[in-house]
Amino acid sequence: MKLTTAQITNIILNNPNKDLVNKGKATNKLLRKHMYGALLADNMDIIEGLEPTMLHKLRKRYCNSNKDLFARAGRPIDLVYSATGGSSYYNMSEAQNSRAAQIAANIRDGLSARKWAEKNWTPHYLDDPCGVIMMEIGDGGNYPLGKVYPTYKAISTIYDYQPKGTALEYISFKLSDTDKVNYGITSKDGDYYRLVDDLSDYIIKSNGKEVTILNDFTLPNYFRMVPAMINSDIIDPNCDGSFLSLFDSAMELAEDYLQTGSIRKIVKLRHGFPKYWEYGDECPACERTGLQDGEKCKVCDGSGHVGITKVNQMKILSTPESKEDVTIAPNVGGYIEPSEVYHKISTEDLAALEDAFYNTIWGTQSQTKTQGANTDGNTTKTATEIVTDLQPMANRLNEISDTASARIKFIVDMAIRVEMKMPNYGGASISLGRRFMLETPDTLWKKYSDARTAGASYSVLNELLMEYLNAKYNSDPVGLFMAEKLMYVEPLVHNTIQQVQAFGCAPEDYKAKLYFGEWLSTIDDTAIMKGSIEDLRTALYEYVAAKELPQPALAA
Ligand SMILES: [Zn+2]
Repeated sequence: MKLTTAQITNIILNNPNKDLVNKGKATNKLLRKHMYGALLADNMDIIEGLEPTMLHKLRKRYCNSNKDLFARAGRPIDLVYSATGGSSYYNMSEAQNSRAAQIAANIRDGLSARKWAEKNWTPHYLDDPCGVIMMEIGDGGNYPLGKVYPTYKAISTIYDYQPKGTALEYISFKLSDTDKVNYGITSKDGDYYRLVDDLSDYIIKSNGKEVTILNDFTLPNYFRMVPAMINSDIIDPNCDGSFLSLFDSAMELAEDYLQTGSIRKIVKLRHGFPKYWEYGDECPACERTGLQDGEKCKVCDGSGHVGITKVNQMKILSTPESKEDVTIAPNVGGYIEPSEVYHKISTEDLAALEDAFYNTIWGTQSQTKTQGANTDGNTTKTATEIVTDLQPMANRLNEISDTASARIKFIVDMAIRVEMKMPNYGGASISLGRRFMLETPDTLWKKYSDARTAGASYSVLNELLMEYLNAKYNSDPVGLFMAEKLMYVEPLVHNTIQQVQAFGCAPEDYKAKLYFGEWLSTIDDTAIMKGSIEDLRTALYEYVAAKELPQPALAA
């Protein structure tokens, strides 16, 4: 929107959306506490009515943060960026396309728009859902004049904004002293603000009562819209214009995990130092009275007993002289063993909380558990069961992939608009790949083999084999390219040699199937890379033409 002077004055003097911004700041602070342990001790409340101050102090001092829990639970997001497939179309003429592709390939500091989003947006999608990606234009300082690049603006740096979906009607920042220096503002009195609407990038001075737009520092907004997009698109049903982190629904579990973990840590420390006991010997100074000259005995501190306190001390027992003498050694001292009960309960509790946490976010059990060793020996999951379990996770990953694609598109569109001087640019079509590799090649091979045995249709088998190849060659695009091609070169790829023979097909087809492996070993990779499927097929049939059809073995 284009703000009126009255609206500008109201925004700077009253920041009308401060509740919204403050809510975003609180969310960010809570997430940073859990995800990075930021200000953890300052934000760990005493357990009212149960916890003595002394223990609370210890708990704050020695607890572990939830860093590891969130790192484990956030790991599947990597799959969004490692997925194969995906495409970028700029919908322009060929010459313009290549310029657009160049812009997208180096959006900032040598990173492509996709890589920038992966490294700089993803963490804040999780820890700062109400923060924004905002595009800036280089002024010839750190970035060349006119170069458009993305930045992350934390909600904690935002003074006021008005969301419209995940876009913004306006955004405003209060300038820090450093910002003022960068803008070349030397005046010391009053507060300074930056306010961006669809048409202008204002610098505004305020004395708390009235505001002045500083025309010398104000620039036209070349993007013709507020060049910012909110990090998350998970709508907060309780607050209009506010957004949630992917982790939101599991935050109470995270709090419980943190509390249980911190109590467990204190118990562990308390019982981690072994407690020694021994029968006390009579104090030589006071002869067990605890008193010396009417005062508390200084040697035994009034207890009447002395114990072993130094490593070179020993306890001397009298040698038993007859069978009737009681043999007390070795029961003269020992260690008090702590109860295992609480430790066991709390360890199981933490494991259960982590399971629930993961399940809440992904709708499925952690993969390391489902595909790990079966400790009870009888709950081996079949490949199909695992597939069913993974569907909610695939759905979630698809949503994240949509969110990420929309942000990459936003970054690229904004850069093209300004750098290529196309204010009416309709926008690129950008989508990340969707083959998430949720399953290992072994699992996929088993699925394929089972489907083959069950006599599934060729199109189903093709798809399953393709999935297997994609997983196997996940980080090897050349290998994948060749394997996919060879799938169509080998005759009746899903059938065994015996099956093909039983079909009673033409002798040259049977020979091509029989000698496929032998032929393949004579072909080099370049020929497979360059040749078309037809070329390779012709080469295979030429190779086997000279081969004799093996005669059936004579019955003995
Ligand atoms: Zn004594």
